Amino acid sequence: MERIFLASPHMSDEGYELEYIHDAFRKNWIAPLGENVNEFEKAVRDYVGAKNAVALSSGTAALHLAMILAGVGRGDKVFCQSLTFSASANPVAYLGAEPVFVDSERETWNMSPEALRRAFEEYGRPKAVVAVHLYGIPAKMDELRAVCAEYDVPLIEDAAEALGSEYKGRACGTLGEYAALSFNGNKIITTSGGGMLLCGSDDDAKQALKLATQAREPFPWYQHEEIGYNYRLSNISAGIGRGQMRVLDKRVAAKRDIYKRYAEHFGKLPIAMAPMPEDTRPNCWLSTMLLEPGCGVSPSDIIAALGVENIEARHLWKPMHMQPVFSGCGFAKVEDRAVSEELFESGVCLPSDTKMTPEQQMRVCETIKKLF
Ligand SMILES: *Cc1c(COP(=O)(O)O)cnc(C)c1O
Repeated sequence: MERIFLASPHMSDEGYELEYIHDAFRKNWIAPLGENVNEFEKAVRDYVGAKNAVALSSGTAALHLAMILAGVGRGDKVFCQSLTFSASANPVAYLGAEPVFVDSERETWNMSPEALRRAFEEYGRPKAVVAVHLYGIPAKMDELRAVCAEYDVPLIEDAAEALGSEYKGRACGTLGEYAALSFNGNKIITTSGGGMLLCGSDDDAKQALKLATQAREPFPWYQHEEIGYNYRLSNISAGIGRGQMRVLDKRVAAKRDIYKRYAEHFGKLPIAMAPMPEDTRPNCWLSTMLLEPGCGVSPSDIIAALGVENIEARHLWKPMHMQPVFSGCGFAKVEDRAVSEELFESGVCLPSDTKMTPEQQMRVCETIKKLF
């Protein structure tokens, strides 16, 4: 049986990506700058409607630079959604700052505005807040922004999983002061590895570009007045990204179809598909589901049964406040039983590969149905 993946790279049928790579070879632009980098940035900017975009070597690098631009430094606090991938929080530690994790709410699975308010009350004012659009589901940005505005704290959007998602008619990635996108191999489009920082301020974009190129000052010699990073995206990788942008809408449509097929097939089972919050258009990067309490089947049962069939599935992200590496960090919640823990314990990420055929998806559904 051919393996069915959660989400694997999916190059265009037309071969756009290779054309742009060949072009870079022909012109000998084998460097972390060049036409592919500029055009990839422009394509993303135009697609989401962002003012500035800086192509970087990873989404983690984008989050790291966003936090530096927000002024995060040693001893500062950063409030971060707990239910996420560790990359949302790691840059807080790179900067010698201290993460305080914030619980989720049930309507979007993302940062709870009430828990965020609780964090402000319990831990004081942080330097930045990091909210995530998990699995492409937009967070309650209006409510989160309102709390941040009250305390005058910048909101960073971790939109690594949400390129192509919309919130109230606006693209994810344009809803906070800064946003990070990821083009890692498992994301909705990929550059093999890469990321992008989006921001509204031209000055911030200029500073990000400088920090990403070893903080070189405009002198005839190499002059440095602050510590920089080697975070720019290669012109070869950007060629892949440029080609992938031409099929992004197709990928979003395919991901949304995959979600719909799961929802139809699981209709009569004690399974709740991930929320599709009102006024949003999730990109459905990963189709995810929750098992109803007391249904007698656990996420591990499903993952194991699919594994036997050579089908990849996974638990939801394990919340950061439960991770050994972040033990001792603060955590703000409003319910006795943390919502993020409940989601983690009952959730499964289903195969959502855009190369998966409807027949293969049926195999996934049948394997799960058999368990009930
Ligand atoms: C993938 C991901 C990142 C990190 O992106 P990289 O490009 O892998 O560094 C950050 N946050 C979330 C939520 C992600 O899923």
